Amino acid sequence: MIQNLPPVRGTLTAERPLADLTWMRVGGLAEMLFQPADAEDLAAFLAALDPSVPVFPMGVGSNLIVRDGGIPGVVVRLGRGFNSITIDGGMVTAGAAALDGHVARRAADAGLDLTFLRTIPGSIGGAVRMNAGCYGSYVADVLTSVRVVLRDGTLHDLPAADLHLGYRHSSLPEGAIILAATFAPPAGDPATLAARMDDQLAKRDATQPTKDRTAGSTFRNPAGFSSTGRADDTHELKAWAVIDAAGLRGATLGGAVMNVKHPNFLTNAGGASAADLEDLGELVRKKVYDSQGITLEWEIMRVGLRHAD
Ligand SMILES: Cc1cc2nc3c(=O)[nH]c(=O)nc-3n(C[C@H](O)[C@H](O)[C@H](O)COP(=O)(O)OP(=O)(O)OC[C@H]3O[C@@H](n4cnc5c(N)ncnc54)[C@H](O)[C@@H]3O)c2cc1C
Repeated sequence: MIQNLPPVRGTLTAERPLADLTWMRVGGLAEMLFQPADAEDLAAFLAALDPSVPVFPMGVGSNLIVRDGGIPGVVVRLGRGFNSITIDGGMVTAGAAALDGHVARRAADAGLDLTFLRTIPGSIGGAVRMNAGCYGSYVADVLTSVRVVLRDGTLHDLPAADLHLGYRHSSLPEGAIILAATFAPPAGDPATLAARMDDQLAKRDATQPTKDRTAGSTFRNPAGFSSTGRADDTHELKAWAVIDAAGLRGATLGGAVMNVKHPNFLTNAGGASAADLEDLGELVRKKVYDSQGITLEWEIMRVGLRHAD
């Protein structure tokens, strides 16, 4: 158990269930959940926390399977003190807890094009960490800098280049937490941007199970990605297509199912455990490899322990 926690102005909750904080609605307890009041509260807490205690930052849990045994150490979830959005001289700065969709809408109203963020259901911290993107645009295209707090409690402003953003990848130091991100988006006509976002929302709803308990795409598209993180259409294989070719659309294990509408969306169809979901994902990887020689890599982050101690 964690001993001698530093005093905080935010909220510390021991043994907090995490399932309701994730889209999949599965998983065990955080040994300690910390919701800091602001950046200074978080920095002071980290500086005073025993360095051997692991720290895991979570966003709104739209790319996560928290395992059934929970997450040891401190889970940090940023809230109200971290969701401001400011627009200045063509630049957008958003707190890590701001939702991607809100940021896209505020930017569009100001004639700035972050429309690709509109349909991604995460927070800005998660978007930067995952180099989130869709419809041909990625965080890497527009990010200029991030404010982070490192595990030792020191605050830093880093240029985007330091994150080495790639396909669904960034290289943040272990335990580092993104506090805010600054983007330099291209300009656009607000009405055109609004119409594009409406169009993308409709396209999403038509092709993906947006109302189900999923964490988005389960596996990365298998091959053909350049170092910039951009799809190379001439070589790209779609994960959903190889899952389909293996006959696994609709495959189930316990309460987990490979979604019939889009088979790369692993879904909690009701009553799934994290183990059901992860085991079905591993079964799909094995069957796809055995039948097609293709290795699927997880895009969903799986965190925590399989069983509570
Ligand atoms: C229906 C659906 C559709 C989706 N479509 C897309 C899509 O089109 N494109 C796409 O890229 N993704 C998509 N996703 C996946 C997901 O929304 C993104 O990966 C999103 O960026 C995750 O943000 P989050 O706040 O939910 O992060 P979480 O899921 O909570 O965390 C994801 C990772 O980010 C880290 N993280 C979160 N916040 C911070 C922080 N402040 N500092 C440091 N690390 C942090 C976590 O430690 C974890 O490693 C989709 C998900 C769903 C459910």
